[in-house]
Amino acid sequence: MNNSNSRRPLTSAEEKHLWMVSGGICSFEGCSKRLVVSTDGMLTNIGIKAHIIGHKKGAARHEYMDEYNYTQDELEDITNLMLMCYHHSKLIDDKVTKEQFPPARLFDMKEKHEKWVASRLELYKKNSIALIYKRLGPPINDIEYELEAPYVLLEAIEEQNEFVDFTPQGWEKGKRENEHLARMFNQRLKNQSINTVEIFPLSPIPLLVHMGFLLTDTLTLSIYQFNREKQNWVNNQYAEQEQTPIQLEKVICTNGEKELAILLSISGSVQLADVKETLNRDFDYVSLTIDNPSVKRILYQSECKIIQVEIKEIVEQLIQQYDYEKIHLFYAGPAGLAVEIGRGINPRMWGEVCLYQYDRRMKPRYSYAFSLI
Ligand SMILES: [Zn+2]
Repeated sequence: MNNSNSRRPLTSAEEKHLWMVSGGICSFEGCSKRLVVSTDGMLTNIGIKAHIIGHKKGAARHEYMDEYNYTQDELEDITNLMLMCYHHSKLIDDKVTKEQFPPARLFDMKEKHEKWVASRLELYKKNSIALIYKRLGPPINDIEYELEAPYVLLEAIEEQNEFVDFTPQGWEKGKRENEHLARMFNQRLKNQSINTVEIFPLSPIPLLVHMGFLLTDTLTLSIYQFNREKQNWVNNQYAEQEQTPIQLEKVICTNGEKELAILLSISGSVQLADVKETLNRDFDYVSLTIDNPSVKRILYQSECKIIQVEIKEIVEQLIQQYDYEKIHLFYAGPAGLAVEIGRGINPRMWGEVCLYQYDRRMKPRYSYAFSLI
């Protein structure tokens, strides 16, 4: 017997098609949210598939089924589905507001949105795959860009389980999870023609550096920074203007010790006293401080690149000169830069790099997390 309430699941080809034509963006007019949905683990390219003509009897706009020549089964057709963010999918079905959204209006929205996406694909010929790596705080379900997104997002891979176990075992587990994620990510990249990778990182620093270290260096990465004030993601793809050049103050102190500490003060100051307390032995150090370290400092990607290159140059020069046994990285800076710095580490040259987690309530304030080798 045909149960009229049972919905035919979309085939994966249909899912993919719906995602592609929507560009992974909410189809509601004026909304530009990128959609990602937490599933059981990794692949998240679903969004909310909203029905234009409601599927069930009594659902929003179901009464228009005959007028628009749909049969019950055909209501699952992708012509009747719109990819939307949670908020808008609720809005069009809500008892109070649904009257504002008759089928004609929604079909029109869908058509305009899909045309716009197609034109952008044509225009930019650029698509991307996203890596959402948010292990601080709760998972996110969509991505709000500061500006219009520069790419058409084809799919997203995520790791959004909050990282809470700061013990040695916890870090080891985090490291393995990173390796798994990077493997899977590289696998996805192999299987399709992707122009760029968009990374949305918000995680403990050691994991971010490690993630950058694992990502292949051959790809163009577009790394975003989360703006907590505005709750959106920023990079400078289209915002080269109004950047004052970055000033880095550099202090190098060498006494021929066997280990080198790198102190990087971008969003806050890394205090030498804290580093001494943590390491509790003699070390050489190089300290880089931005002109005005501040938590609110938004770093655009080009600035991150400048800092990354500078660190790499200085450290590699020192390594050649002093042949250190170990390098210790003490970092106070934004997530995106941590990923960039990880990318810049050449394991054959740097040797063991020890990573530290900061917690001002702890004594010492930096504690060893794990090493990159
Ligand atoms: Zn929306």
